[in-house]
Amino acid sequence: GKADIECDMVVLGAGPGGYSAAFRAADLGMKTVLVERYDTLGGVCLNVGCIPSKALLHTASVIDEVKHLPDHGISFGTLQVDLGKLRGFKDGVVKKLTGGLAGMAKARKVEVVNGVGAFLDPHHLEVVSAGGKKTIKFAKAIIAAGSQAVKLPFLPEDPRIVDSTGALQLKSIPKRMLVIGGGIIGLEMATVYSTLGARVDVVEMLDGLMQGADRDLVKVWDKMNAQRFDKVMLKTKTVGAKATEAGIEVTFEGEQAPAGPQVYDLVLVAVGRSPNGKKIGAEKAGVAVTERGFIDVDKQMRTNVAHIFAIGDVVGQPMLAHKAVHEGHVAAEVAHGEKSYFDARQIPSVAYTDPEVAWAGKTEDQCKAEGIKFGKAVFPWAASGRAIANGRDEGFTKLLFDTATHRVIGGGIVGTHAGDLISEICLAVEMGCEPADIGKTIHPHPTLGESIGMAAEVFEGHCTDLP
Ligand code: FAD
Repeated sequence: GKADIECDMVVLGAGPGGYSAAFRAADLGMKTVLVERYDTLGGVCLNVGCIPSKALLHTASVIDEVKHLPDHGISFGTLQVDLGKLRGFKDGVVKKLTGGLAGMAKARKVEVVNGVGAFLDPHHLEVVSAGGKKTIKFAKAIIAAGSQAVKLPFLPEDPRIVDSTGALQLKSIPKRMLVIGGGIIGLEMATVYSTLGARVDVVEMLDGLMQGADRDLVKVWDKMNAQRFDKVMLKTKTVGAKATEAGIEVTFEGEQAPAGPQVYDLVLVAVGRSPNGKKIGAEKAGVAVTERGFIDVDKQMRTNVAHIFAIGDVVGQPMLAHKAVHEGHVAAEVAHGEKSYFDARQIPSVAYTDPEVAWAGKTEDQCKAEGIKFGKAVFPWAASGRAIANGRDEGFTKLLFDTATHRVIGGGIVGTHAGDLISEICLAVEMGCEPADIGKTIHPHPTLGESIGMAAEVFEGHCTDLP
């Protein structure tokens, strides 16, 4: 039969990857259709990921900050939490952003089709919704179907066992909470709940939290957060759980496992995310999907089928919104006939915890693994006037240089606002800066950002006399 809609470009999934690709394609003049199963645009990131978590983390960081004020002679009454209002604030933030996207789609004449999409063949996609079925005939397609939280099969179905989406709903503040998985998502939610009054345990299978970050950064984080958690159990696994009236009774195994089962009011499972590649009828379009559900692509984001592209979480690690956005732009441009390709020298990572941890480019661990000879310059925030004035001088800024080329190849920051500060290091790595380029750039004083300039000066061998 005839297709209901014909277009130059269909984008499957409206997360950061998908909407960025659709907007770029439309801007380039392609007739573009954006397919999304949920009512709002924005995908995981805007609806149940980056944005709502940061709304709650902002609130938590203000509460944590206020807790230090008695040292300055300032005090308030005791903490009172109106969870309904807090949820309202968070939901309002999400609504503002997803609503903004809908407006931007409309302005660009991107047609949004709501429903679950699946390929019928290499040039047709079927979208099924409560309202019925629609067939879309397309010249080019971009798969941006994202990922979902990994489940632990041995955990019972129980409303007290949640993934990050459930935790972000903030139904109540549990007395005792277990976070399974010491990665960024788990630790961010652990930060929110502990600040709001929960006693939180964290269990991690590997030998340290926040894998992927250099251990010297994490060491500062561990020290600052020692008081925050009841227990951090490393090299330990959750092996079973029983739903009882008293709570979820969890058993552990491993080096730091407690003697017996522990009872929790809320258990957050944050053990990773798995790609949605197997749920979109890719095989009917001839698109190859790996065992785990990833879709392999080349540097132009092309799948094995030349007119079908894939981007974002569904093509692999790191599963981050900013990576998805850049891949989306490349896919749309290549589909339009441009010679773009994805060639990032660095993709930054940020844990928006307290303190924040951010890193970009090569880490020390990566340099060692890859046999890269590197130099390192560290500027401790104990020597930063601004960090001291903020009452938060525990952090440090680190730059890594390739000793052969003298270029900045990476860096890391632990401390308040590290996530906002890391961008300068991202730019330095992309541009192939030498330390002097950064060190001789005048940074505003007194700022935390100055610490990046200071680190570069440390490398150059100059002692700096600014406090
Ligand atoms: P997604 O955002 O997953 O979007 C895919 C979309 O496709 C979804 O809307 C889905 O409904 C739709 N879809 C899938 N299949 C179909 C189908 N068959 N038919 C119709 N629609 C379909 N990243 C950061 O960079 N910074 C952060 O601070 C951060 N915080 C996070 C916090 C949490 C709690 C979580 C869970 C994730 C966080 N992430 C963060 C990761 C980030 O959300 C993802 O990397 C990003 O959303 C990936 O974008 P995407 O476009 O690939 O896919």
